[in-house]
Amino acid sequence: MGRNTLEQLTLFDIENKIHIKEGEEIKECRICKEVKPLHMFPRKRHRHIQFLQDKGRSTCKACHKFSHTIVQELKIKHPRPTHASYACPICDKTSEELKSSGRWDKLTLIWCLDHCHKTLKFRGWICQGCNIGLSRFYDSIAIFKRGIKYLERKL
Ligand SMILES: [Zn+2]
Ligand SMILES: [Zn+2]
Repeated sequence: MGRNTLEQLTLFDIENKIHIKEGEEIKECRICKEVKPLHMFPRKRHRHIQFLQDKGRSTCKACHKFSHTIVQELKIKHPRPTHASYACPICDKTSEELKSSGRWDKLTLIWCLDHCHKTLKFRGWICQGCNIGLSRFYDSIAIFKRGIKYLERKL
């Protein structure tokens, strides 16, 4: 990677001028928080997670592309865990346990490199399911806390 992160960000800003036509469907990107027309969001979700296919990703194409580049760089510095005893730091399941769930069979599908979208720093290797969980909760500690309160309510 020749360019640094800041230069790339500027480049994406130039490449992604937003033009919203009248009557066009729009959506807010969960990362850059910009409201963009639907065609600026990738249509397809992860090939291997078809059950999640919906109107498209909640991350715009520019952020998606940018985050892909960041992840590739982080993967070089923080290789995928290959040790059988490695467990997801969130659900505490090992790759064997995750494989036996039958949903994901290959290591490359089981472990996702997670990074902070604000600082772009490596957070850890987490399982696919927990990675989806984090994004479903918008990576928001406040939402997670409300989720815990909600589950703890006495019924
Ligand atoms: Zn975005
Ligand atoms: Zn997990």
